[in-house]
Formats: sequence, structure tokens, C-alpha cells
Amino acid sequence: MGAHLTKRLEAPTGVSKSMAKSMGCLHFFVHQYLRARHLQTVGASSALAVAGSQFHKYRASYIEHLVKQSMTHDHGWIYWYVSSNNVSEEAERLILSDIQSGFRVNPDCVYGAEVFLSCDSNLQPLDHEIGNAAPGKLSAHPDAFASATLDLLCIDGAHATVIDPKSGFSTVGVTDDEPPINALVVFAHFPMVQTVEFRWDFVRSRTNRRATYSRASDLEWMVKRVHELNAIKQRAVDAFNRGEPLELNPFAGLCGYCVLQCPLRAQADVRALGPIQTDKDARRVAGMIHVCEQYLEQARALIKPFLNERGPLQLTPELCYTPEVIESSSYPLTDALNALDLALVDVSAMPPEERANVLLQQPLTSRTWDVPLSALTAGAGKLNAFAKTKKSKKRKDALTGETVGGVSREGLAERLDACAQSYPKTVLRFRKQGMDTLLDDLTKSLEGAKDKEGE
Ligand code: SF4
Repeated sequence: MGAHLTKRLEAPTGVSKSMAKSMGCLHFFVHQYLRARHLQTVGASSALAVAGSQFHKYRASYIEHLVKQSMTHDHGWIYWYVSSNNVSEEAERLILSDIQSGFRVNPDCVYGAEVFLSCDSNLQPLDHEIGNAAPGKLSAHPDAFASATLDLLCIDGAHATVIDPKSGFSTVGVTDDEPPINALVVFAHFPMVQTVEFRWDFVRSRTNRRATYSRASDLEWMVKRVHELNAIKQRAVDAFNRGEPLELNPFAGLCGYCVLQCPLRAQADVRALGPIQTDKDARRVAGMIHVCEQYLEQARALIKPFLNERGPLQLTPELCYTPEVIESSSYPLTDALNALDLALVDVSAMPPEERANVLLQQPLTSRTWDVPLSALTAGAGKLNAFAKTKKSKKRKDALTGETVGGVSREGLAERLDACAQSYPKTVLRFRKQGMDTLLDDLTKSLEGAKDKEGE
């Protein structure tokens, strides 16, 4: 307790988006983020963290260049940047992916890169700096309520867009508190802005996730959430000052950045799941997953017939392993549409104008039941399987006995692609890296080097 009293911690004013993320594990938040005490490190910054900050630096310079030159993109400049700046191989790969992903800006709408904004609790604007790249910067203003460094802010009339590049491998691990804090400071600084779109730009997978906030309907809960975060921050600091242990959360996506000697490590025995801070930790847990995945399927196949015969297995007074029949159902498309009082019309033989006219009259909802049709989807697996076959199967018609089918499916895949709704999803897979993959990697890197020489 005495040691804590001599190092009494003052909570900084306000919350920032990086602070909100770090609050996922309160031990990390107080002991690392707020730098409450001398840190005992377990490793230096990872190569990926270095690549991430080099990528952010590049993006800010690139955007500045595009605005100055009034260009939407400039691939030559990107090649110049990687050849004339000392960036790591990993950062180079990330930077060059801006070419493949077709990253562009509208120079007339760019407000700035690395824009640091803050506001007070009445949403009065406070800090306003452009080109401030200090990661995790917090407002020093005594009235600060929320602050954020926006990687890229674009404003087009009443609509603002914030683009937040993420250089990690995953499309998860971003906190839901980041976008509203960004949107809040934008609303505070720009009264004409009515909507803010926040876009996570996952650089590696070349995908993005978006969330849109409106001044009219979202401002109230956003302010409430920032008040809650301020209260959590204060409670954590008070607990630290009283010498109380702080909550640990290895699932907050922070362990990879954490350099603390985590108390959870001491508690973890050889089979327990603990925080993953180092390569060694990651290898251990990946190995456990691999073993479990290998055995789980086989183990289930082995025990299923036994349980089918003998019924539930009582493992402990509270825990029972039991076979259960779960009913899952699906609705044939035509029957489902008929039930909604909607009918299918074959438009394939209609002239183009008539076809367009019929499609135009399609309702947005089933009028009888008020079911929005945009909420209904058809399974991609089945349709893609049809699209992959060149022709439909020849078969005998049950009524006439004639041979039907053999119809070309050329163009079906493109039609389906045009209306597909795709969502980025992160899955973890074990891959055996064989000779083919290694040769493929080598060929790609040689081709990359050749392309650069030709520039
Ligand atoms: S290793 Fe993970 S759980 Fe442990 S203190 Fe750090 S962030 Fe929290």
C-alpha cells in the first residue's frame, strides 16, 4: 500500500480513442498506458508494430502529397517513397498494397491527415492540430472530455468521413468505442457536419468496415458513453491508488502490445490459457489449438455412437454430456416467396425494356406481411456450386419424358458476383507450407523486385 501512496496517480482529463481501447484490460491501462510505474519489459516492440507505425507515417505523407498535387492517387510516388525511405520489408509490403487495393482520395474533400481534435463535455471545440502523428496523444486541456487523432478526415458538405487504417492481420480486435469518439470530436468541431462515416481500412485484407453516425440521432448516446468511459478511467485510477489489484482481461486484444509482467502468467499452469505477449506464448497456444482440432473431430465421432445407444453421460453432478437432436430448417425459395404473397416471373424471354419495367415494379417489402425483402438472402454455397458448372445436367422430364437440361451457365457467376454482399471475416487456419508454396512466395518476391527495377 505504501509504495502506491508514494506514487499516487492522477487520472488524465478526458478519454481518447486509444485510451478507450486500452481500458479493455484495466491492469494494462493503468500500468502501461498511464505509465504508472517503471515497466519491466518482456520484449521489444514487435516487427509488426514497427511496420504499422511506418505505414501510418507513409499514409500521412502520401495524402499530403496527393492534396498538394491535386491528385486522387500517384503510384509512382508510392514506389519512390519505399525506395527512398528506410522502411522495413513488412512496411514495404503494406505500403505497396495501397497500389493493389486502389486506395484513392478526393483531394478537394481532404481536411487533413493526423488531425488531432478534442472537445469539452458541452461539445465546445478545444484542441485542433493538423499533422500531429504522436500515437495515443491526449489533450492537455483541463476541460478535455474526448480527444482523438484522426488518421484521415475528409469533409464533403454535411458529410464527413474518417478513415482509420489498420495494419494488423485481423479484421477483429478493434473496439466499438473508437468510432463514436472520433465522430463526437468531428461533430463538436464542424457544426455543418450532420453525418460521420467511420471506416476501418484493413490494409492487409484490402477490406473495410464502416459505421455511420448522425448528429440528430446518435449524439446523445455517444456523449453518455464517453461519460461512462471517463467514470471507468477514474475508478481504475482510484483502485490503483488504494493499492487494489486491477481487472485483467487477456481477451481484449491488448496482450500483443503489453510489455508488463502479467500477473496471469504466474497463475497459468502448463495447460492453462494465459495472455499471449510473445512468439513463444503464441506458439504454445497455437499448438494447443492444433492438437484440440485434430482430436476433437475424432473424439466426437468415437463417442457419438456410444451416447446414441446409452444416452446422456453424467460427468459431474452439474455437468452432463448428452446427445440432442436439433432441428434446423430452410425454406425452398419459391415456396417462401409464395407464402409472402409474391410470385416469380420469368423475365428471360422479355425484350430489354419490358424486362427493366418488370424489375422496376418489384416491391421492396411483402405487402401482406410487411417483410423487407432486402433482409432475405440466398445461400452463397448452393448458388456458387451451380455457377461453377458449365452446363446444367441433362435429365428426363418427369411429365413429358423429354430430355431437358444441358443449358449453359456461362455468365451466371458474373451476375451473382454483381449482387453479392461480402463481409470481411477473420478465420484462423493451419496450413502446411509445402515446396509449392515456398516456390510461389519466391516467384512473387522476384517478380516484385523486377517490377520495381522497371519503374
Ligand atoms: S498481458 Fe494481457 S491480460 Fe496481462 S496485463 Fe497485459 S494486456 Fe492485460
